[in-house]
Formats: sequence, C-alpha cells, structure tokens
Amino acid sequence: MANGKYYDVLIIGSGPAGWTAAVYSARANLKTLLFTGLVAGGTPGGQLMLTTEVENYPGFAEGILGPELMDQMRQQALRFGTELVEDDVTRVDFGQKPLTVYVGDDAYHGKAVIVATGASAIWLGLDSEERLRGRGVSSCATCDGFFFRGKEIAVVGGGDTAMEEATYLTQHASKVTVIHRRDALRASKIMQDRAFNNPKIAFVFDNVVEEVLGENAVEGVRLRNVKTGEESTLPVQGLFIAIGHRPNTEIFRGQLDMDEPGYIIAHEHTATNVPGVFVAGDVRDHRYRQAVTAAGDGCMAALDAQEYITGEIWTDWAIGEEAVAASQV
Ligand code: FAD
Ligand code: NAP
Repeated sequence: MANGKYYDVLIIGSGPAGWTAAVYSARANLKTLLFTGLVAGGTPGGQLMLTTEVENYPGFAEGILGPELMDQMRQQALRFGTELVEDDVTRVDFGQKPLTVYVGDDAYHGKAVIVATGASAIWLGLDSEERLRGRGVSSCATCDGFFFRGKEIAVVGGGDTAMEEATYLTQHASKVTVIHRRDALRASKIMQDRAFNNPKIAFVFDNVVEEVLGENAVEGVRLRNVKTGEESTLPVQGLFIAIGHRPNTEIFRGQLDMDEPGYIIAHEHTATNVPGVFVAGDVRDHRYRQAVTAAGDGCMAALDAQEYITGEIWTDWAIGEEAVAASQV
C-alpha cells in the first residue's frame, strides 16, 4: 500500500459544489475528506466569500450574506463527519489506483475524487476596481443586476458574455454602456445584433478603463481612448467586468479531458474521462455559473461517486467492472 491517508471520497474545493458533495458523501457514511483551497480571494469558501447579499439561493426568503451561506454549508458538511484539509491541492495522480491527491509532499488516497475547484472571473487588475468590488464593481450580472434598478451602469468587454450581461442588465438599469478596447466586437453576430438593437445599450469603442471613480461606491470610470490617447469620464453607478473567466484546472492538465478554455468535460453525468473522478460546479459549467446549479452538481457528483464505489452503476459504461474492482482498495 502506498504511503498516505486513505479515504472513500476526496473532494477538492469548498464552494457550493464541494460542500454539497461533502454533505451527501459524509451523510452516506463514506469516509470523506475535503480540501478547502485558498485560491479564491485567499479564503476557503469559494466565490461567494467575495460577495454580500445572495438573494437567489432558494430557502432564504430574505436573502443571505455570501460568507454566511458558505459557513452554513460548511457546518452542515462537518455535522456529518467531513474531514478538512485547509490548503490547496498542489498536484494529483489519477494515472493509477488508488487515486492520489497531494498537498506538497502529503499524499491522500481516495476510491473516488470529486473536482469542484470552480472558476475565477478575470479582472482588469486596477487597484480602484479591487477596492470597489462588491460596492458597485461586479462580475456577475445575474447575481448583482437587481441592485442597479433605474441606474446607469457600464459593462467592460466585447465578447458574448459582455453582450449577454449588457442585454440582461437592461432589465434593471436605465442605461448600459458597453466599453470595449477595440472598434470591433468579438461576440457572435446574433449576440451583437441583440445588443445593437437594444435602445438602452450604448457603445464606447477603442477605450479602456484607467480608473474606477468613487470612494465607497462607484461614481464613474475614467477612460482612455487607445487610438488618440484622449481621456474622458463616464458617470455610472455600477461597473460589470465581463472579460472572461478562468477555470481553476491547471493541476489537472494532462490527466482530465478539458475543452479549449480549460473547463473539465463531464462525459456521462458527472463522470470525467478517469474512472472514479467526478466533476461539479463552475469548473465544468461555464454557462449557468450559479450557486444553486453548482450545489446541484455537487449533489449529483457525490451520488455518482457513491454508486461508483459500491459498483452499482458504470459497469455498462467505459469504466467497466475491472476498473470498479481496482478502485476498491
Ligand atoms: P467556487 O465557489 O468557485 O469554489 C471553488 C473552490 O475550489 C474554492 O473553495 C477554491 O478555494 C477551491 N479550489 C480551487 N483550486 C483549488 C485547489 N488547487 N485545491 C483546493 N481547492 C481549490 N451565484 C448565485 O447563485 N447567486 C449570487 O448572488 C452570486 N453572486 C456572486 C457574486 C460574485 C462577486 C461572484 C464572483 C460570484 C457570484 N455567484 C453567485 C456565482 C457563484 O458564486 C458561483 O457560481 C459558485 O460559487 C460556484 O461554485 P463552485 O463550488 O463550483 O466554485
Ligand atoms: P471572450 O470571448 O474571451 O471575450 C472576452 C472579451 O473581453 C473580448 O472582447 C476581449 O477583447 C475583452 N478583454 C479581454 N481582456 C481584456 C482586458 N484586460 N481589458 C479589456 N477587455 C478585455 O470571453 P467571453 O465573452 O466570456 O466568452 C467565453 C466563451 O463563452 C466564448 O466562446 C463565448 O462564445 C462563450 N459564450 C457564449 C454565450 C452564448 O452563446 N450565449 C454567452 C457567453 C459566453 P478582445 O476582443 O480585444 O480580445
């Protein structure tokens, strides 16, 4: 037997997907270890640690603060016996059984692994942007659009996400200005047309945001025209950054199948290409990116892992009985 500690299920990530997987796995009496990670803003708990009010997670009629919701999920997972490693996983070895996950030199072995490492929004990298995050600067229109009813806001980006966010935000805002660094959008024609035809959306091309203005809330943005160098100010009360997301998948490269931007591919239900490794949440889903969908995914991954371990399913799929037996270390 290899050195290290042995578990039934190893879960990587402590966002809604990871904690939900832990609740289901530990409650099914599987010996469960969850790696909380430190990468999402330096805090375990994932992306919701970076926000204030969450108003669309079912069960909280009056809304709940993001960090409070994550603490509730954590307590629920601990209640059923989930063990924690409060660190980042630094490398994985899915090439043999048992599946092995490393934190530095420490090895942890599992019959099944659930990858729930999420994705991170790409930001502009301005100090003023960071200071006003959650105070008018956001990366999620579905999450925060509601707070900008009747206000003038701006969206940065020229891709499909920017067009989608801008179009969505017109349901709430009185005016949405799309700021793009070139004079041509990257977005698909249909998404462009939808935005161009929306009377509430205006465009500022060839401009980049140099600074987000405001002390405690967004009051405007200082822009620079990249062709003329001319500076201008656009007064807005909200700024949505829509220049892409990056899935947290570096450590799985070469072992798990990914699409071109690096999101992990679930081949059947939540199963990846490696028998016994399952995936849940924003790390595979670049479409919905919601706490509730991530939590739902975490539930599915835990049920799939459970059935994989007991050999109840997957025998008619690529994994085969041999691999199932091999996983029963
Ligand atoms: P994440 O929440 O991204 O969690 C990933 C976890 O993996 C983190 O704990 C991270 O530390 C960990 N991790 C990463 N790499 C490693 C590693 N190598 N080792 C160990 N751990 C690792 N959604 C809503 O439904 N409603 C909202 O109101 C809402 N508001 C939002 C506001 C903001 C500002 C943001 C950024 C997002 C918001 N979202 C909201 C989206 C929601 O937060 C995500 O959809 C959800 O958190 C995804 O959950 P997840 O578990 O897949 O991933
Ligand atoms: P994307 O296609 O990579 O577009 C990112 C946009 O942000 C680009 O316009 C880019 O400018 C701009 N940008 C990048 N870094 C910037 C910076 N530092 N400062 C200013 N602008 C910056 O990303 P996405 O829009 O998130 O889309 C990702 C994928 O999801 C795409 O394949 C897209 O088609 C898909 N998607 C589809 C839908 C849909 O069909 N409904 C919706 C959303 C996303 P440049 O153009 O100059 O590079």
